[in-house]
Parts: sequence; C-alpha cells; structure tokens
Amino acid sequence: MATTDTAATPRFTPQDLPYAYDALAPAISEETMHYHHDKHYAGYVDKLNTLIVDTPFAGQPLEDIILSADGAMYNNAAQAWNHEFFFGQLSPKPRKEPSGRLLEAINRSFGSLDDLKVEMGRTAAGLFGSGWVWLAEDPSGRLVVVGEPNAGNPMCRGMKPLLAIDVWEHAYYIDYRNRRADAVEALWNVVDWKVVGDRYAKR
Ligand code: MN
Repeated sequence: MATTDTAATPRFTPQDLPYAYDALAPAISEETMHYHHDKHYAGYVDKLNTLIVDTPFAGQPLEDIILSADGAMYNNAAQAWNHEFFFGQLSPKPRKEPSGRLLEAINRSFGSLDDLKVEMGRTAAGLFGSGWVWLAEDPSGRLVVVGEPNAGNPMCRGMKPLLAIDVWEHAYYIDYRNRRADAVEALWNVVDWKVVGDRYAKR
C-alpha cells in the first residue's frame, strides 16, 4: 500500500524551557510554568504547524510569517515567537540590573531603570484584556514601552523587541488571580538583564 508522509514532520517544534519548571518560584509557580509552556505555548506551535500546511507559509521562517500573515496564522505564529522570547529572558539566577550601553539607553529614554519598571507596570495595568507589554527600540534608536493587544509584536511596526511581559491571564491567574500588577512586580525578580543587554547589542 502506498503511504504518504505529508503530515509526518511538524515544521516547528516547541522549545524546551532553559530551566526547570519550578526554578522561577515563587515569582512563577511550577504549576503555572507547566500550563503556560506545555499547554498554551505548545498549543500555539501545534496550531501553527496545522495552519501552514499547503500554504505559501509552509517553508517560511517564523519571523517572515509574523511579518506577512494575518488572522489565525499571524496570531499563532506571533504567540509562538513571543513565548520563546518571554521564556528565554527569564532565569533563576538573573542579572538584576542592566549595564553598559543598555543602561545608558534606559536612562536616556526613561530616566532610570525604576522609571522604566513603573512605565511597563502602568502600561500592563492599562492594557484592556489579553496582550503583551514590550520594551523595544524604535527605528530612531530610542527605547520605548508599547502595549500590544492579543498576540501583538512591535517588530510588525519596524521596532526591535528587547523585553516582553505576558499579561494574558494564563500567565498569572493560577499564582496571582486578578492581581496583574503583583504578577508584573514579581516578574522583575526573574528577568535576566544579561539576556536583554545581549538582544540590544545584537545588530
Ligand atoms: Mn502566555
């Protein structure tokens, strides 16, 4: 009998966490990490793999899909990218402060690191419904804080993402219930500014 291998190999594979599921507690619990990584993030990747079959997106890099797709294709591609970016900037042993050129840019754009944190917290509180709060570099080289609804990513507006805060309820509701501001505040304990600095330095 003839067989077909068209559905054999998923195009994209969910990336493992770069730390243990319980490594970020108490800022983020093991239970939240399992739901967030294994159910939500992996679900976006699985859905994307289903959607791209037999479309022009089937052979494209993830970022190209994000920049040109819309609707469900965009949403699942961007959520896959956003979560890899989000998980990748967290660490159980983070560098707690930015340094060098990144620190200079933060001071120039916001006044201080604390002022940046206040601005990101305020943007998180003001974002209606699900979405992401980003620290990004705009085309003029200035650092900006942007709130994006749903799967929004500032790369679609010509900006370079540096840091992402997931403010979908699935990111914090198990640990913080409705207290989004507390979840954002706790996240700062596990954000690795070494990773953010490396992203900023990369041209
Ligand atoms: Mn999420």
